[in-house]
Amino acid sequence: MKEFLKGLVEKNRIKSEVGNVADYIPGLEKSDKNALGLCITSTNGTIYSIGDCNIKFTIQSVSKPITLMLAILDHGEEHVFSKVGMEPTGDAFNSIQKLETCKTHKPFNPMINAGAIATSALIKGKNSQEKFQRLLDFFRKISENETLEVNDDIYLGESLTGNKNKAMAYFMKGEGYIDGSIEDALYVYFRQCSIEVTAKDLARIGLFLARGGVMSNGERVVSERIAKIIKTLMITCGMYDGSGEFALRVGIPSKSGVGGGIMSVVPGKMGIGVFSPALDNKGNPIAGEALLEDLSSELSLSIF
Ligand code: GLN
Repeated sequence: MKEFLKGLVEKNRIKSEVGNVADYIPGLEKSDKNALGLCITSTNGTIYSIGDCNIKFTIQSVSKPITLMLAILDHGEEHVFSKVGMEPTGDAFNSIQKLETCKTHKPFNPMINAGAIATSALIKGKNSQEKFQRLLDFFRKISENETLEVNDDIYLGESLTGNKNKAMAYFMKGEGYIDGSIEDALYVYFRQCSIEVTAKDLARIGLFLARGGVMSNGERVVSERIAKIIKTLMITCGMYDGSGEFALRVGIPSKSGVGGGIMSVVPGKMGIGVFSPALDNKGNPIAGEALLEDLSSELSLSIF
């Protein structure tokens, strides 16, 4: 199995050539364009780590489903989905367009920037530090990695350059989709995007969801219902405006980030973490998507 997986990684590594690493957030441009890592952790305890699995990178949008889980734990499903929708947009992950043009002005889903900022605003705490600390503790718990930390350089770069995200936050505040402080919401959002992980961490988070919200010691952290919501939104919206094609070609609930991460969940079977920093024109890891397509067809992993 290990040799077979190594072959898939090497076959797909060259596909990074036609992609580009993100450079709109200062620091991300330093990533190695040709890096490719695959980590698989299965419910029976088997772990495979192939290629660049120990390189740290910022989690970026892969943080979005995790924050959504804590927001639902903090407020319940009904309240959360009164602030953010459940529908794919067909637009870019950072698009502001539908916020203005749709009738309700409600962010479409929690997997794009607008919706994720609304979700970050829901994390409970007496100030921004406490809100983020609670969120970081939750990331550490479900990744079973107490050492997760924020990359402060990337955080600073994001908060200095994230003007479009700030514009969306102000717009949503004006429309009543953010109740508390805009500054707190943006602090939590920019910091959650700047948490450093490896492909192994993403595989462990995927495994947590593959077990339906249960840790490796058997502790249930979120309900089956919450795990179902997260997996459903991952398959419908997790790859932004590439989600439909990805569902057909790969068929595994997944969430990408512009740092090169993909976290995938094969329900009942395994969590998969990918690191692939060269992106396609939709901001999805280009070699990583091709690798997951091969993996899915070779091992019959599509949920459809
Ligand atoms: N922090 C990034 C942003 O807000 C996250 C985007 C992503 O990973 N797609 O633009």
